[in-house]
Formats: sequence, C-alpha cells, structure tokens
Amino acid sequence: MKHINVALFVVHKGCPHMCSFCNQRSISGSQKEITPDEVRSAAQTAIASLSQNEAAGGEIDFFGGSFTMIERGYMISLLEAAYEYVENGSFKGIRISTRPDGIDAEICLILKKYGVTAVELGAQSLDDRVLELNERGHTAKQVEAAVATLKSFGFETGLQMMTGLYGSEDSDSLETAKKIIEMRPDTVRIYPTVVIKGTRLHSLMQSGEFIPKGIEETVDLCARLIPMFEDEGIKVIRVGLHSGGDVEADYAGGAYHPALRELCEGRIYYNIALGKLREYGCGSYILAVDKKEISKMTGQKKQNLIKLQSLGYGCSVKGRDGMAKYEVAVEK
Ligand code: SF4
Repeated sequence: MKHINVALFVVHKGCPHMCSFCNQRSISGSQKEITPDEVRSAAQTAIASLSQNEAAGGEIDFFGGSFTMIERGYMISLLEAAYEYVENGSFKGIRISTRPDGIDAEICLILKKYGVTAVELGAQSLDDRVLELNERGHTAKQVEAAVATLKSFGFETGLQMMTGLYGSEDSDSLETAKKIIEMRPDTVRIYPTVVIKGTRLHSLMQSGEFIPKGIEETVDLCARLIPMFEDEGIKVIRVGLHSGGDVEADYAGGAYHPALRELCEGRIYYNIALGKLREYGCGSYILAVDKKEISKMTGQKKQNLIKLQSLGYGCSVKGRDGMAKYEVAVEK
C-alpha cells in the first residue's frame, strides 16, 4: 500500500523560550498561521492524488516544534480538522512534535481524543549543562518524564536530538544517544546544528565564542550515532534539516547538507569496509554490498574508494543479492 503523509508547519508565535538555534522570534511576525480550513484542504489534496486505498495508512503531521504549547483553542481547532480525516479512514493518525515540558497527562488525553498517534519530543540534549547553555528551558529529567507519560498513554514516541550545539562536544552527543536508547523511543531524528541568521548562535558565532561543527566532523559523529540506534531496533527517521525554505536562505554556518544522511551512511559503509580490509592487508579487492547500497559504499564522487586507495586498498564495488543493510563482503 502506498502511504501519503501531509506535513503542515505550525508557527509557534509568542514562544516564551529563546533556544539558541531557533529563529522563531525573528520570523514569526512574517509567518502566517495555518488555519483549520487549510488543514482540510491539504488533506483533501493528498487524498485526491491517490486512490482511497492508497491514502489510507498515511499520517497528518503537524511539525514546527511546540504543538502542545500553542494557544489551546487554536490547537484543538487544528486537531478537529485533521481528525475528520482519521475518523473517515483516509489517514491512520496524526503526528505532532512538541517540547518535553509541553507534555502531561491532561494534554495526552486531549491528543488521544483527537486521534494523535505519534508524538515527537525535541530533546536536543540530555546534558543539563548543554540544555542550559542553549537556553532550552527544560531539563533532561523533564525529557525522561515526558517519554514515560507518552508511553503510558500508548503513543508512538519519537525523540529528536541535536549534535554540535553551543558547549557540546561529540562525547556529549554520544552520551545523549546512550540515554535516549535507555528510554526506548520508537524513533529518533538527528539534527546537527545549523546556524541560522538572527539566532543567538549566530551572534555567538560572529563574536567567535561559538565555532560550529562542519560537515566532515558531523558526518564522522553521525556515522557512529546512527548504528547505535539502529542496532537497538530504534528507527532513525531523519538525519539533518530538510532542504529548502529558510534554511538555505538564512544559512550562516554549521553542518547543513541536502543529502546529509546519504553522506553519513556512506561513512558507515566506509568504516565497515576499512575494518574488514585491515584484516586482509593492502591489495586489490571487490566489495560486495546490497545492490541498492552500491552508491553508499562507493561514496559521493567515489570518495570512499579514493580514500581506501590512498590507504593501499584498491577496491571496486559490486551488488550482491541477499545482503543486509551495512553488510560488506570482501572478495579478492
Ligand atoms: S525551538 Fe525553542 S524558541 Fe524555537 S519555537 Fe521551539 S521552544 Fe520556542
């Protein structure tokens, strides 16, 4: 069955927080609030593009960070509009994302009533020092409490983490990943820090107090984080910000790349292949991987093969049926 998801951005006007990486305050005046009629119209457009059978199974996704902290009447009006399409079977559920301190039993009851099935929390870090430095306005304990509440209500639970925040090193991100795994969320998104003009991080970057992590070191880190989650059966549903919109227009620094996940998965293949090749010693080899993964094993612009060559391993890549993701077989 082909699924279709409808993604709707919810502006968080009047947010009382000032997270270091967020430009909501500077842009919220210029952004229009989505209306319930626009929710209906987006759902109908999606349904019209597919047969009824194909549309069933998708989700209506309210993203934007703090859904449960927007004005209550407005939040319910959006949910009511979306729920019409869950009730009539066009979509299997509604996904929202919010802050950890925006979750309690009362809000969970409302979300349940209106067909919300999945809730994602912007945890960003599970180190209170990093949370404070980046003015998140919540603690790691609040993330744990929110996850426990969501699970007790039976929501599919997702956690979003950021790497490379102000004051954060790779060791902090690896520690955050371990703590996330202990909480057993269903999904994870990894967002390496991107500095957007007009944010506090931008000022810190301009004054030299903050040097954002670049693509290379971010890819190295994420190539360690992704397998940590996947080996524990936790789906990594996103790596890196979506392209387009404000990100590209207002980019000031940091780890933005439109195909960041592809780069990270390529690095995972490189690391696995290098580990195996070291056991064989320098020479010429064929690396066999699943057919769909050939481009990742090869790397963008053949970077993986070029790097292996520079270490004394002359490699070509071939596809082989029946290989698992990240499985690499070395042939002489
Ligand atoms: S990221 Fe922080 S500042 Fe931005 S909308 Fe969410 S809570 Fe508010």
